[in-house]
Amino acid sequence: MPSISQLLFELKYRLQKTVHPLHAVSIEVTGRCNLTCLHCYAEAGNKPEMSLEDISRLAADLHRAFRPPLHICLTGGEPLLRKDIVDVVDCFKSKGYSVSVVTNGTLLTRCLAEAFGTRLTGISVSLDGLTKAHNHLRGGDVFDHALAAIKLLKAAHVPYIGIKTTVYRGNLADIDQLYELVLSLGVDLWHVFAVEPHGRAADNPELLLTQSEYAQLRDKLSLLARDKKLRIQFGEEMVRSSSCSACTLKRCTAGITQMAVLNDGSVSSCINATRDTVPEGNVFSENIGQIWEDGFKRNREKVYRQCGGHHYERPACG
Ligand code: SF4
Repeated sequence: MPSISQLLFELKYRLQKTVHPLHAVSIEVTGRCNLTCLHCYAEAGNKPEMSLEDISRLAADLHRAFRPPLHICLTGGEPLLRKDIVDVVDCFKSKGYSVSVVTNGTLLTRCLAEAFGTRLTGISVSLDGLTKAHNHLRGGDVFDHALAAIKLLKAAHVPYIGIKTTVYRGNLADIDQLYELVLSLGVDLWHVFAVEPHGRAADNPELLLTQSEYAQLRDKLSLLARDKKLRIQFGEEMVRSSSCSACTLKRCTAGITQMAVLNDGSVSSCINATRDTVPEGNVFSENIGQIWEDGFKRNREKVYRQCGGHHYERPACG
């Protein structure tokens, strides 16, 4: 028998699927990247990026359809490869939207950190383990750069700093030590993902966790979250202590309260969704407000499996 809170949760989710209020848009502001990570879902590298004019037009189109509050998350590729990244931030800030950035941290300077400190509501830096595991996944000697970036962002008082960790076979054993490191950095959120077989990760199956390693990771994070010293998110879900570990997982809101615009203008439910998914439209040829209204049927009609009367879905993307 579901509890009152589970029934209310279900009701709220059904309402969200019907009303689909847009809360956040992730925008791939470049397909270029200075790294060649083994798991990159975007398969970023020498790919195109939107011009500043395209981005400015997108900001205006968004604003016509969606008044603030709306959160814009700038991602890539590596957004900091753009020399005009501060102008890109300002395109959305000037519309009254809150803006955050996702970066690998390797290109951050003190000057840029200070510009971000006065503009962004948050930033996420990738840190995928201790030195060896991070450098292996990221394909270069970049661990120290990521650490330095987090310290610069702290010094520049960016209001909300998150660390994103992709867990793969090579860093699963590092989780306890990585937790201590993340804790010592004084960040606001540790966002942990298990590597998914999308993009370049599909070509590197040795990275993928088995089902039992995945469960082991989820249970370890639930345990670490118990001491409440650090906010931990696993996939799209906050990790909380619960007698049923499956119940620590909630619902994916891709296509329900959030969408993503890829570097070629195509619109998807989530930046991490597989690139094989048929796009819902393209912002260069269609109205973004209309795409949001008419698209995303797959997400809005999604039915969740249940686990012993509790809501349950593995937070895989796609
Ligand atoms: S995962 Fe991020 S840092 Fe790595 S190649 Fe892809 S876009 Fe670049």
